Amino acid sequence: MKALCWNGINDLRVERVPDPSILNPGDAIVRVTMSSVCGSDLHLLDGYVPTMKAGDIIGHEFMGEVVEVGPGVKKLVKGDRVVVGSVLGCGGCEFCQTDQWSLCDNSNPNPEILEKAYGYSGAGIFGYSHAFGGYAGSHAEYIRVPYADNGAFKVPEGVTDDAAVFTSDAFPTGFMAADMCGIEPGDTVVVWGAGGVGQMAMQSAWLLGAGRVIAIDRFRDRLAKAKQFAKAETLNYEEVDILEALKEMTGGRGPDRCIDAVGMEAHTTGVEQYYDKAKQTLRLQTGRPAVLRQAIMACRKGGTVSIVGVYGGLLDKFPMGAAMNKALTLRMGQMFAQKYIPQLLDRVAAGEVDPSYMLTHKWGLDHSPEGYKMFKEKTDDCMRVVFTP
Ligand SMILES: [Zn+2]
Ligand SMILES: [Zn+2]
Repeated sequence: MKALCWNGINDLRVERVPDPSILNPGDAIVRVTMSSVCGSDLHLLDGYVPTMKAGDIIGHEFMGEVVEVGPGVKKLVKGDRVVVGSVLGCGGCEFCQTDQWSLCDNSNPNPEILEKAYGYSGAGIFGYSHAFGGYAGSHAEYIRVPYADNGAFKVPEGVTDDAAVFTSDAFPTGFMAADMCGIEPGDTVVVWGAGGVGQMAMQSAWLLGAGRVIAIDRFRDRLAKAKQFAKAETLNYEEVDILEALKEMTGGRGPDRCIDAVGMEAHTTGVEQYYDKAKQTLRLQTGRPAVLRQAIMACRKGGTVSIVGVYGGLLDKFPMGAAMNKALTLRMGQMFAQKYIPQLLDRVAAGEVDPSYMLTHKWGLDHSPEGYKMFKEKTDDCMRVVFTP
């Protein structure tokens, strides 16, 4: 089959690879009908996620048709149209049993790498390096889905592929960001990053009772989408001082809930950007935490900072004093896909949210390297490129 393979920093190639097959009784093989790019893939392209090997298939936000099931699969049959969560969960360990699926004890067959880095390993993730399990990703014609009964969900009739594909990763991640905020009715919620996850965090903040949603980015088209589709007020950080602006907009009090939907490759203005970039390039820090610093500084006393933008390792100049002395709650994590996907599919089916507006480009797999280039450079108002293998 054809697949998009990582071959080094910013080196993606469409290659011929062997078809996947059933390895364990709980596996299913899915013919991929749609597979989307994700901001966290850019960390792979840029070489900030170690343990990638030449030939690894990337991609983790996808949907498709079940073409084969292992003997242990009970909930799926051949022909089912399914969306698959990007994070794998065994379903049986104490973390899966308590709906903390990205912390699964069993779905990462290479736990020793993350045990060294983090103390304990979390779940495996499709197409996201050998540290996260070495699972083949979804930018391919077919994919093996382990623990298929837990991770693959039938798409309700009436929900289009264009909307369903984002319930795999961007929507549950954005929803979890808002859920972790503990939003109280009327709260002001600020979202840094108006890409796919940020847009979904804004939509989710409204669903969970926010009174006001503010989006921060520098790309005009993304801010325009935040305004039009997510009914957010918008701030461009290249045009205004964010801390000043947020203080002013909240009567000097500061926003109640702050969401970092950007992560370790944050871009900022001024000397901070050069400082962070230099230290990251020299690997003196693995992330550029400009957004996280700003969110902590901006947040009102006693508020919540919720982090779903991906971080990998160490950060420099982390304002711990501000977080501690303002009694902030910090929440974070890789998303609990299996917890959120069913209810999000229901919400999409009920017409509460339509994520399909994020799909700006739809291309065949042959053009996937160009698709990533466009997504990375954010040209042509690109928000999400979806490949149709
Ligand atoms: Zn993702
Ligand atoms: Zn588990």
